[in-house]
Amino acid sequence: MANFIDTDNYSAILRDKCVNLAEQRILVSRLAGSEQANDLTVPPNCGGLGRIRHFSRHADPEWVPDPLHIDTASRALNLLPGEVLRAQVFQNAACNWRCWYCFVPFELLRASEKRSTWVTAGDLLDLYLAVSDRPPMLDLTGGQPDLVPEWVPWTMQLLRERELEGIVYLWSDDNLSTDYFWTQLSEKDRELVATFRGYGRVGCFKGFDALSFSFNTKASPDLFNRQFELMRRFVRAGIDIYAYATFTTPTPNGIEDSMKRFVDRLQDIAPNLPLRTIPLKIFPFRVVENRLSVNSPHLVAIEHQKVAIAAWRQELETRFSSELRGLSVVDVPL
Ligand code: SF4
Repeated sequence: MANFIDTDNYSAILRDKCVNLAEQRILVSRLAGSEQANDLTVPPNCGGLGRIRHFSRHADPEWVPDPLHIDTASRALNLLPGEVLRAQVFQNAACNWRCWYCFVPFELLRASEKRSTWVTAGDLLDLYLAVSDRPPMLDLTGGQPDLVPEWVPWTMQLLRERELEGIVYLWSDDNLSTDYFWTQLSEKDRELVATFRGYGRVGCFKGFDALSFSFNTKASPDLFNRQFELMRRFVRAGIDIYAYATFTTPTPNGIEDSMKRFVDRLQDIAPNLPLRTIPLKIFPFRVVENRLSVNSPHLVAIEHQKVAIAAWRQELETRFSSELRGLSVVDVPL
């Protein structure tokens, strides 16, 4: 039997290690000096805790465009959406999964205090506000930020107090693995997240069927279903939510059928959810190359994603009018 991550148990262990609720501190990765820093185009900033990320709409002409951060932030901040958007990124120091294609070195996902620093949301906000040529967007990522769901409302509260709500666009990622958003936050916190002006969230589907999901994450295939359940809850909660999906898979067999079912399941949550879902192309960053062997099945999986993206495009063309497909991702109603 395959050796899967015990996701619920490991999530609880990591949460315990990466948040201090009494002091409202979180453990954030130190990027300076890390293996990840070698893959960055611009050196880490904010005392080594942050980085500037350039989100590009057309990163690869053979893949679908990625409008997510650009269109959502531009709409919220009344900016003209362009080709590239700069964001200030901080990464929490833990993740409960181990995606083989993760561009974060695994040593930055273990909540290791040797590789991270305890900070408050206010410390990070101060660092961000002091950045010269400050990007309009603040991206709380990881790792898996939702191991510490408090990070988002803590940051929102501070932005509101400093009268920066609607002036800074706030974004957070979620790998759709835990229900901590509902079990750890208060009703008041969830209300704040749902109503804050200028916040977007993305849930990442780590595959398009149970096999690809488990192959990609090392989590049990059963948890593929949970990804949909969690996404359904976020949609129902009225949060401005979008989705990413990765299509690397170990086998070329049955991709078209699996993709149909994947799109069916997205539509079961909300008929237009596929139009708010962006497939992400997996690139072998240096960090990833270093972790793969020459004959690794993951190298073939990179090739299979090309078949999967063709199947995805086909499904969208069949199911949605060109008018709907032409909408900005921000305007797609759920
Ligand atoms: S869920 Fe995200 S942070 Fe965690 S291993 Fe996968 S890609 Fe990396």
